[in-house]
Order: sequence, then C-alpha cells, then structure tokens
Amino acid sequence: MIDVFVAGSLHWDVVVDAPRLPRLDETLMGRSVDYRFGGKGGNQAVAAARMGASVAMAGRIGRDAFGQQLRFALAAAGVDHAQVLECDDASGMSVAIVDAAGDYGAVVVSAANTALNPDDIRLPDGLKVMLLQNEVPEAVNLALAKRAGDDTRVLLNAAPARALPAALLARVDVLITNRIEAAALTGADRDALEPEAAAKQLCAMGPQSAIVTLGADGLVCADASGVTTLAACRVDTASSHGAGDMFCGALASELARGASLAKAAEFGNAAAALAVSMDVHARVELTPDAVRRFMA
Ligand code: ATP
Repeated sequence: MIDVFVAGSLHWDVVVDAPRLPRLDETLMGRSVDYRFGGKGGNQAVAAARMGASVAMAGRIGRDAFGQQLRFALAAAGVDHAQVLECDDASGMSVAIVDAAGDYGAVVVSAANTALNPDDIRLPDGLKVMLLQNEVPEAVNLALAKRAGDDTRVLLNAAPARALPAALLARVDVLITNRIEAAALTGADRDALEPEAAAKQLCAMGPQSAIVTLGADGLVCADASGVTTLAACRVDTASSHGAGDMFCGALASELARGASLAKAAEFGNAAAALAVSMDVHARVELTPDAVRRFMA
C-alpha cells in the first residue's frame, strides 16, 4: 500500500570545491568533489520515505551510469521506483562550483526529466498524499492533480517558481513555496516580502492552504481559518542544502499518517531543522523517532 506518491525530477549532482570561480576560458584545479543524489522529486521522495511513509515515485532517467545511481539511491531509501523509466535522453544533472567563501555557480540540465509523461503514470489505489514540484513539465502536474481522488491530499512545492494555472491551483490542498518563490508568484519585492500577506495572497489564488518557508525564520501557513506562524527550531547549521525538500517530504509523510496540517507543519519544521544540523550525507541516519525526540 503506497501512502505518498511523488512524480518529479531526478538529478545527479556534481559539486566541486575550488579556490574561486573560474574566469572565461580558464581551467582551475579544484580541491574536492562530491556526488549527490538530487532533483526535488527524488529528494522529497527519499525524505518522505526516511520519515516513515511508504513512497512510490514516477520519473525519467537516461540509459547511463548516473541513471543507475539514481535508481540505486531510491531503492536504498525504500522508495518504489517501478515507475522510474529509462528514456533516450541523458539523466538530469547539475554541476556546481563552490568557491572558498561558499558562493557558487551552477548549471542544471533537466534532460530526461522533460520526458515524464502523465499518460504513462499509474496512481496507486488508496493514495493519501500526492507530492509535486515544478522541475517537470506543467502538464504532468496538471494531469495528475486532476486525477487525484477526493481522499488524496495534493501538495505542490512550486519550486522553481513559474506561473501556475488556476486549474492546477484549484486542485491543490497545500501550496508550498520558499520566500523567493512566494515573491515571484505574488509579484512582491523579494527583499521586502511580508510573509503573512504573501501566504494569504497565495491561498487566495485557489489552493486550500499555502505555506511559505522562511529558512532560519521558520514558516507561515495560511488557510481559510487564518494565518499561523511557526518559529524555526534552533540548531547549529551544518548545511542548509535541501532544507526545503526535507520539509516537504516530512510534511507529506505526517499528513499521510493522518495528522492535521498544523501538526504536520510542526513535524516538517523539526525534521528540516534536524536535517540542517547534519552533513548532507549523514541524513541517511534521520528517522521519524529522532524527529519526535527532538520535538519533545
Ligand atoms: P533549499 O532550497 O535549501 O532546499 P528552501 O529555500 O526551499 O531550501 P527554506 O525556507 O530555506 O527552504 O527552509 C525550509 C524549512 O527548513 C524552514 O521552513 C525551516 O523549517 C527549516 N530550516 C531551514 N533553515 C533552517 C535553519 N537555519 N534552522 C532551523 N530550521 C531551518
């Protein structure tokens, strides 16, 4: 029985540490390289599975070594990957160069992810939560959200930001954005965003509720009953990379267990803070029990 279904992107990320970003036509010697499983779809599927949900994912990979690594990582996290299909394009990937100050330049290539086709996707029976993001074609999100049954909560993490059709928003139960995406979608100035007003405005666009995540400032949630804010849990930051994906995956898993949106947001807030306190590769150790102990 699958609780959480993710249709989304899979990227193989290559992260190179260099003394500085290279200039035009320059080749630099880097200091280290890290390979990471990525893509918002894959990251959120893995996060939901680590947080205790039974998860299946639909996605596209290339017939290449990166594609095999992506499938292996899903399997290792216990994500059902039967609907992750190979296609003729290369696996999606990103290449990032991080300089000594931690600033970076990156290129993301969607490649195989653009081949995801809603007509090939079977939704599991009795699905509790559908989790979508904006790294696959909009037609996928629209078609799947329309096919979701009355008992399925549809969560859309609108990342990266793009214009969202009213027909999609009308089928969304929880719209999740970070500060930058909220500014883009509401037309607000990114540096002067008022989170509560933005969450209200996003909610008025059609979804049942809207959450704006605010990094170390926590989050704001708006629904028909009003706006609530949640402070972030205090942690020492090891890496804030992927905080949003952990929040979305944990939120989905807790909603699938039957929690209210407010309780699920508290759980997601704590899970994301714990993730931020850990090195990216150490997060395999994260369990729902560890999050509950942290919340206690
Ligand atoms: P990313 O793109 O890095 O995955 P994001 O921009 O989508 O992240 P954020 O708003 O930065 O998402 O963070 C998501 C959630 O993670 C926050 O709402 C909060 O719950 C938690 N979080 C992020 N940073 C911190 C922090 N420094 N301390 C505690 N919690 C944090």
